[in-house]
Amino acid sequence: MTGVRAPWAADPAASRGRRHPEAPAAPRSEFQRDRDRIVHCTAFRRLEYKTQVFVNHEGDLFRTRLTHSIEVAQIARSIARRLQLDEDLIEAISLAHDLGHTPFGHAGQDALAACMAPWGGFEHNLQSLRVVDELEQRYGEFDGLNLCFETREGILKHCSAANARGLGEIGERFLTGRQPSLEAQVANLADEIAYDHHDVDDGLRSGLLGVAELDSVPLFAAHAEAVRARFPGLAERRLIHEVLRRMIDERISDLLAETGRRIALAAPVDAEAVRRAPALAGFSPGMLERVRPLKRLLRNRLYRHAQVVAVMDEARKVVSGLFERFLADPALLPAEHRIRNAAIGPRAVADYIAGMTDRFAIREFLRLAGDGPAAQALLNSPLAAGALAARRDPAA
Ligand code: MG
Repeated sequence: MTGVRAPWAADPAASRGRRHPEAPAAPRSEFQRDRDRIVHCTAFRRLEYKTQVFVNHEGDLFRTRLTHSIEVAQIARSIARRLQLDEDLIEAISLAHDLGHTPFGHAGQDALAACMAPWGGFEHNLQSLRVVDELEQRYGEFDGLNLCFETREGILKHCSAANARGLGEIGERFLTGRQPSLEAQVANLADEIAYDHHDVDDGLRSGLLGVAELDSVPLFAAHAEAVRARFPGLAERRLIHEVLRRMIDERISDLLAETGRRIALAAPVDAEAVRRAPALAGFSPGMLERVRPLKRLLRNRLYRHAQVVAVMDEARKVVSGLFERFLADPALLPAEHRIRNAAIGPRAVADYIAGMTDRFAIREFLRLAGDGPAAQALLNSPLAAGALAARRDPAA
């Protein structure tokens, strides 16, 4: 925390505490300690090799879950400072928000959710909480990272009512319709600001999107026109960056104005009053309208692009194939994982798969599939071809 703390900011000295009581973190604040624990955990390092939109080995410059999380933290922190929120808490939430993500982005998550449908399902937000509450094995006294309530509350941004009922205090707000802290609300919107813009950048870099297409989106076109007028003949890569930084700036300015307006109206006296109020962080109706064509373009021309879909279809097969094999024969799981889970059931298998990086999942699938037709099909697909080429020539 730097600077002034608003009354509506989360206060680490007034935290609802940790599940396992610990001596104070001083001189660090409790939220600083949480942030530090997240940065040092294994699941955080794995984010480097997990897909955001493009599979990790498709190119060295595309976002991964790790660089995405860092961008979210950067945007969230700058908003937090302007709103006088707790910057350490918002950074902790941002860095941890995707820890439970499966390999292969949303395709992996959908496949695992389908596999787990008979056994309580799979939700990546809930899995992020499982990672920090149970799955990380680092400390002598407890499983997980033993984070503060406020950090855990922010990590669990969505949750089904059925799952919320089993979570106690942390699940309550999904049953009562209450809000989380402003830090959690802002981190959630910073996530959206980050991916809307870096997906445009990655889409252009991949060649699947073109500048001409983006010029059909008024939000992009308005800024592009201003950049072209200011820098005639600017090289395309610089133009893209100049436009995207202006777009991010506009989104953040709108969020600050709208959130400031709502805070003034609700006048929350403390962080608890924020939880009882309607959502205080948000974009203006005008901005929501302005962003819609951009999101539509990303959905139709990038996320649903035949080339992206083909890779992701293959990824789904890898995830469901791994799930079926491990569930049918738990002896195939590593000894460490079998020892930790007294009875290997579907949940333990899902935990193991969710923790995999993209390339580890591909290697495991190939190991289990031997010389069978499933292995041959994967080897011939663009999904594995890149991963294996990268392994053959580590200098590439
Ligand atoms: Mg995210």
